[in-house]
Amino acid sequence: MKKYEIATIEGDGIGPEVCQAAVQVLKEACGSSQLVFNDFPGGAAHYVKSGSVLPEETYEACKTSAAILHGAAGLPEVTYPDGTEVGNDLHLQLRFKLDLYANVRPIRLYQGDFSPLKNRAAGDIDYIIVRENTEGLYASRGAGILLRGEVATDTLVMTRKGVERVARFAFELSRKRHGAPVDGVKRMTVCDKANILRTYAFFRSICDEVALEYPDVAIDYAYADAITVHLVKRPDFYDVIVAENMFGDIISDLGAATVGGMGIAPSGELGDHHGLFQGAHGSAPDITGLNVASPLATILSGAFMLRWLGDRHADADLIDAAARIEKSVELTLSQGQVIPRDLGGHASCTDVTSAICRNLKA
Ligand code: ATP
Repeated sequence: MKKYEIATIEGDGIGPEVCQAAVQVLKEACGSSQLVFNDFPGGAAHYVKSGSVLPEETYEACKTSAAILHGAAGLPEVTYPDGTEVGNDLHLQLRFKLDLYANVRPIRLYQGDFSPLKNRAAGDIDYIIVRENTEGLYASRGAGILLRGEVATDTLVMTRKGVERVARFAFELSRKRHGAPVDGVKRMTVCDKANILRTYAFFRSICDEVALEYPDVAIDYAYADAITVHLVKRPDFYDVIVAENMFGDIISDLGAATVGGMGIAPSGELGDHHGLFQGAHGSAPDITGLNVASPLATILSGAFMLRWLGDRHADADLIDAAARIEKSVELTLSQGQVIPRDLGGHASCTDVTSAICRNLKA
C-alpha cells in the first residue's frame, strides 16, 4: 500500500472544524496508515501572532507533500494598510508560487429541496466551473498602484500560455464527463466580457484556437453578466464553464447558492505538480465556534483530493475511497436525519461528520 503525506493548514474561523472533519472522514475511508496528515500554521490569526500569513516551513511542506488540504483563511478585521484582507494571501500565495492554474469547482444538486430554484431535482444541476487561478484581475493583488490617496489601479493580466492551459484543462474535463444534464452534450462554455475588453476578447480567441483540438466538445459563450441569469434560469444547460479569475470567483458563489449554499461547494486548485483542496467557501466568521458549519464542502474536497492523487499515482485504492466518501455523503443526505443547517436541517458539524463516517462502514 502506498503512503501519502498530506500537508494540512486549518487556518481561521470555521477552517479548523471543517478541516478536522475532513481528516476524520479521510482516515475512516482509507485507514489511518495510508494517509499521513501533518498540520502546519498559516492564516490571519497566525499573521497577528507571527507577522507571517504563510510561514516558510508551511510553504516548504506544501511544496514537498503529495497534496494540501486547507480549511479556510481570513479574519475581516485583520487587514493590510491598503485595506485588503491578510487571510486571502495564504491561498493566493500558494496559487501563484505553486502555479495552481486551474481552480475546479463542481456545482452539483444532491436533492431538489436544497435548491432555492423551483422544480429542480437531484442531478438537474451538474456542472463544473474551471476558474483560471493565476492570472486575470487577481494577478495584480498587492501590485496595483495607489497614488497620493487619489488614484488606484489594478491591471487585468492575460497570457497566451495561461489561457491556453486552462482552456485545454476545461476541454479535457468535459471530454471525461457525461455532458450537460439537459441534452447530454459535452459543452465547454467560455465566460467573459469579450464585447467590452480586449483582454476578454483575447481570452475568447485563444479558447477558440484550443477548441479546434476538441471537435467532440461543443464550444459555447456567455458574457459574465448574462451567465448570472442563465445559471439561475437554465442551469441544466451547463457542463464545463471556463472563466477568468475574478469572474470564476463570483459565478462559483452563485452556482453554490443554486445547489444549497457555500457549505456544499468543494474546490480543487490544480497545477501540473501540486494540488490544494478546500471548500469553495471562506472562513465564515459569522458562524465560527458554534459547531454549525457544514463540513460537506471540505469533506467533498477531500474526496476530490483522493481522486486526483489516485489518478496521478495510478492508485485504485484511493479512487475507490473517494467514491465511497461521495456515496456516503449522498446516502447521509438522502436519509434526511442528519442535515446541516445551511441545507435546512439542524445537525451540527460534528453530527454530520459522524454520520458520514458511520455510513462509510455501511
Ligand atoms: P471569501 O471571500 O474568503 O471566500 P466570503 O466573504 O465569500 O469569504 P464566506 O466565508 O464564504 O464568505 O461566507 C459566506 C456566507 O456563507 C456566510 O454567511 C457563511 O456563514 C456561509 N458559509 C460559508 N461556509 C459555510 C459552511 N461551511 N457552512 C455553512 N455556512 C457557510
